[in-house]
Amino acid sequence: MVTIDFDIFPTRETAPADQRDAILADPGFGAHFTDHMVTMRWSEEAGWHDARLEAYGSFTLDPATSVFHYGQELFEGMKAYRQDSGATVLFRPEVNAARFNSSARRMAMPEIPEDVFVRAIELLVSEDRDWVPTTPGTSLYLRPFMIATQRGLGFSKPSTDYLFCVIASPAAAYFGGGEKPRALTVWLSEHYSRAAPGGTGFVKVGGNYGGALAASREALEKGCDQVVWLDAVEHTWVEEMGGMNLFFVHTPPGGCPRIMTPELTGTLLPGVTRDSLLKLAPTLGIEAGEGRISTAEWREQCAAGELTEAFACGTAAVMAPVGRVRGVSGGWTMGDGEPGPVTMRLREELLGIQYGRLPDPFGWIRKVC
Ligand SMILES: *Cc1c(COP(=O)(O)O)cnc(C)c1O
Repeated sequence: MVTIDFDIFPTRETAPADQRDAILADPGFGAHFTDHMVTMRWSEEAGWHDARLEAYGSFTLDPATSVFHYGQELFEGMKAYRQDSGATVLFRPEVNAARFNSSARRMAMPEIPEDVFVRAIELLVSEDRDWVPTTPGTSLYLRPFMIATQRGLGFSKPSTDYLFCVIASPAAAYFGGGEKPRALTVWLSEHYSRAAPGGTGFVKVGGNYGGALAASREALEKGCDQVVWLDAVEHTWVEEMGGMNLFFVHTPPGGCPRIMTPELTGTLLPGVTRDSLLKLAPTLGIEAGEGRISTAEWREQCAAGELTEAFACGTAAVMAPVGRVRGVSGGWTMGDGEPGPVTMRLREELLGIQYGRLPDPFGWIRKVC
């Protein structure tokens, strides 16, 4: 096995502490970046090489660099959390490493050994640990990504050169609101599709997002917060919401609640948060499983009082309750339209593990520094 050593070049031009503290007091999302970044290059001759931690800064790329033209690109999204004990931790980073490589295979890009991927993340987090915000619900958002850097417009085969990079950005709670998140209103996208069978819906690539923006804009124009994607073939089965997975909560009168998330058909992104909730829920007496639900069933089950809550989940926003659905043929409300008890219970448990307030029965937490 190849070993990869990272050269460490700390910058002497770190942001002044008062400037950094002002950012950390109100970080927003994805607007500010830390002092450093990690980069690593790949070429056909040398494989992965030139791994380094260095000052955060711009790239200079030839206008004919292939990523600008053909979108051979992928990314990940993960977070470092400051726990009450003062430790800075990651949540299941090896799952992100594995998904990064799944995306790489689909995009005909080189894989990165999982331990090298995790080491790159850890190096950046520990070098920029003072950038991890400490107020409740905040975190350091990490964005590993890879781009094709071969120069030339030929399109007969994958790029011969790649750049891997990790940047970090202090982040507030994504949809605002610390303790109680706001329930979202979502727009059913009955015209646009996010992902088709055989396509790239199951991997985390920029093209999926670029192609989604027109639908996001439509949702905003309709007064909604986010788009709900339906399957591309029948436009019937619910798949995801924006860049997040969806869960539905069924609560029989006097019985145990059950959560269901659409199964991974190949057009859905296998979220780390989704997987974690499927494992966590049963430990709380909440049944959990995968299945499928049509828009008609969603509406009917709400009207019948069987489907009591819905929520979206993902690393950035953690869990976002869905209060209302709208589409071309009208809309409906989940329960009273407010965040429901099962959603809030699961959210509290997941955040409790991530921030170290609760035990970590699955060994999901990895201490960095
Ligand atoms: C990243 C992403 C998710 C959520 O995945 P997590 O690993 O939980 O952050 C869900 N859907 C899409 C389309 C995504 O890109």
